[in-house]
Amino acid sequence: MTGPPDQLPLESLAPRSPAPARTPEQLSLLGHPTPIRLPAELWLTWLTDQTVIARFEAKHYIRSPTRCWPWLGAVSSTGHGSFRAASLPGPSRRGTVPAHLFAYQLAHGVINRPGWSAAEDPVVCHTCDFHGCTNPAHLRLGTAAENRAEWRLRRHNPHGPLADVRGAAGRTRAIAQAIRAGLQADEPPDLIEKRIRATEAAGLPLTLW
Ligand SMILES: [Zn+2]
Repeated sequence: MTGPPDQLPLESLAPRSPAPARTPEQLSLLGHPTPIRLPAELWLTWLTDQTVIARFEAKHYIRSPTRCWPWLGAVSSTGHGSFRAASLPGPSRRGTVPAHLFAYQLAHGVINRPGWSAAEDPVVCHTCDFHGCTNPAHLRLGTAAENRAEWRLRRHNPHGPLADVRGAAGRTRAIAQAIRAGLQADEPPDLIEKRIRATEAAGLPLTLW
């Protein structure tokens, strides 16, 4: 469906600082209504498994390096992509992770959290404000407080993704649907770009009068 992104630094996937092998790192996950925590070792298992990576790659649409790479699979209530990295038992669906978090760690390695307190759980923020985006260039590590502050600053931009009248989940779903329709019709990328732009514009609030 889409080509692999440029050169994944797979060798950098190992946790960076001395990872305490016996005290598993935990990670707070943004993008789920209730944050879930997964051991870093589990992430590492998935992020080095070529089958899991191939399934992930098939579920997002890669465009130019500067554009958003929309998620085409399941969408959470917050508008983030949901990727089932593995089927794990239990009610928490621990094997299902936010797609942008998978994308970020596939590019940058497993997020460690040495020195972070529980109140400062690292979160992966979208600099593009499109929750369905999985372009690592649009993702950065921050704190929940920073993320909220940025959201407050940008939510009133009438042209930004946060103003979408369909809501974050509606926007992600609509854009994914437009791309899937283009792919099914075997359209060239420039036509699919037109579909994406039209779908983005369809969610803008009516501010002309
Ligand atoms: Zn983006």
